[in-house]
Amino acid sequence: MFKTNVYKDASDKKIKEIFDFAEGYKTFLGKAKIERQAVKEAVKLAEAKGYKNIDDVKEIKVGDKLYKVNKAKSIVLFKIGSKPLTDGLRILGAHIDSPRLDLKPQPLYEDKGFVLLDTHYYGGIKKYQWVTTPLSIIGVIVKKSGEVIDVNIGENENDPVFGIGDLLIHLASNQMDKTASKVIEGEALDLTFSSMQTKDKKPKEYILDLLKEKYDITEEDFVSAELEVVPQMKPRDYGFDRSMIAGYGHDDKVCAYPSLMALLDSPNLEYTSCVILTDKEEIGSVGATGAHSYFFENSVAELLNKMNDNNYYSLKKTLENSKMLSSDVTGAIDPLYSSASDSNNASNLNYGIAFEKYTGSRGKSGASDATAEYVAYIRKVMDENNIYYQFGELGKVDQGGGGTIAYILAKYNMDVIDAGVPVLNMHAPMEIIAKADLYEAYLAYKAFLKY
Ligand code: MN
Ligand code: MN
Repeated sequence: MFKTNVYKDASDKKIKEIFDFAEGYKTFLGKAKIERQAVKEAVKLAEAKGYKNIDDVKEIKVGDKLYKVNKAKSIVLFKIGSKPLTDGLRILGAHIDSPRLDLKPQPLYEDKGFVLLDTHYYGGIKKYQWVTTPLSIIGVIVKKSGEVIDVNIGENENDPVFGIGDLLIHLASNQMDKTASKVIEGEALDLTFSSMQTKDKKPKEYILDLLKEKYDITEEDFVSAELEVVPQMKPRDYGFDRSMIAGYGHDDKVCAYPSLMALLDSPNLEYTSCVILTDKEEIGSVGATGAHSYFFENSVAELLNKMNDNNYYSLKKTLENSKMLSSDVTGAIDPLYSSASDSNNASNLNYGIAFEKYTGSRGKSGASDATAEYVAYIRKVMDENNIYYQFGELGKVDQGGGGTIAYILAKYNMDVIDAGVPVLNMHAPMEIIAKADLYEAYLAYKAFLKY
């Protein structure tokens, strides 16, 4: 099923499976716009399938289903296979952070009768796409007492929404002469938060009182908050035939969800299966909750320890013998912008899961280049399981580039290849994916775990 349109020979049953799977994904995506929400949803789905927190388990045996959460922002899940752990894991690794605007530590200020919230953008965005579009604020405020206050404003249809202003076209002659990277600048991405005042309270005093009333917080508490500004839109079917999904954060929940479901839906297998849902990919996978963190390695060490194997070499062997799909999105060919892609080496919507032997930019800089041997192995797994799949590059040489977490896990000397769902409008407030590709990714991930 290489380089073939999924719908070309699809039975009614297959089409129904594709569309049914998409419903579960839309529900997940709508509740998991930010990484903390994605972790919560993953734990809920996993616990419903009998997964247990590793911290609560003393001894681990074949068939055990386990998860471990890292600082509420990343998670790793395991299903223990019948072979020794040192034979290696089968790993699906996706990221659950998406480009967005974070509130600054001291975001609140008053100007011209408004209260605004200053933001600092996170990840690669075209800033001009984020103005005059409804936005939600999601995240946490942690008080000195340790109390965590969940904030979620905009997602419920009765909630207010927020937004960032843009200059009216009537007065925009200077602005319209600017280049796209300057037309809206980072410091101009400030959120309109309120506009009311009273006889004895100015707008800022008024809003601080309101915050005190609703959340019992002071202005200082913003310092210990993680508040993320994200597009308000709910995932929706896209296109008259409903073949696609429009939504915020497909990159990379559209790979995180089928990876998770592939694990949860798999029977007991020979090799231990693992799903990594990591944070901070969009800013280089750095920090304690990013893929560069020792969290994953420590979790594997914990597995071995709870299987009474404390040999350091066992940990190294387990990691080196592992095989991984770095489950991340790639850019799909867009009819409006096809000149940015090499059509012989681009991924297409509705052609199934997209593999990339390497990513990177310019002369493959930053790429984790899968070996030809591993690519051949992947082709065999896909063909034996009738998976629709394609091989591509992100775009034309010298047009730009991108990276994933592949190279980070590859440093353990395990085999890794990028494998994900093709996306249109990547990193825009509204990204587009095809339901058929989402479903083929799920089938591909399930097949991969079996070998
Ligand atoms: Mn990604
Ligand atoms: Mn990305």
